[in-house]
Amino acid sequence: MIIKDKEFEIYLSKEEIAERISSLANEIENNLDGIKPTFISILNGSYIFTADLLRALDIECEVSFVKLASYKGTSSTGNVISIIGLEQSIHNKDVFIIEDIIDTGVTLANFIPDIQQRNPKSITIISLLSKPEARKVPIEANYVGFEIPNKFVVGYGLDYDGLGRNLSDLYILKEG
Ligand code: 5GP
Ligand code: MG
Repeated sequence: MIIKDKEFEIYLSKEEIAERISSLANEIENNLDGIKPTFISILNGSYIFTADLLRALDIECEVSFVKLASYKGTSSTGNVISIIGLEQSIHNKDVFIIEDIIDTGVTLANFIPDIQQRNPKSITIISLLSKPEARKVPIEANYVGFEIPNKFVVGYGLDYDGLGRNLSDLYILKEG
């Protein structure tokens, strides 16, 4: 399938994604032990994953959405992240961050201290996808849907230059 100017091939079908999310939800539920999570979904990429995961969870919970704006060249990591949209207090709450994909890890490595400053009781990271080979900073999720190779993916919420977020399946860049 062509998206804009690049060729992609199917990598994970919507059925495979749904099956994995259902088992992730079970795993999360079984580990909750009475905790009522406050989910923080990182937009834009996580919107579909968030909707599907939260509907697969049969629990009482809160959910907020944030957007991260990054500015280049102002810190040692090259990125400063500012959180847009977190009006809700997370003081003493069990925060579960929902990400679409962990690539270099820089985004989360910058975001987590900002969350920590707001004194939550705990922080848990959930990511649909992870590219372990791409990591530049040591950060790992507590729950990962799929580990994938270090290649660009699109669909199921993730975009290529603004396109493809609405695709039900996940596609990977075709080489050559
Ligand atoms: P990191 O800071 O971990 O390098 O990257 C995190 C963000 O980069 C993700 O939330 C996502 O928005 C974007 N990203 C990383 N890899 C991919 C990819 O393969 N496809 C798309 N569409 N976005 C990606
Ligand atoms: Mg993202």
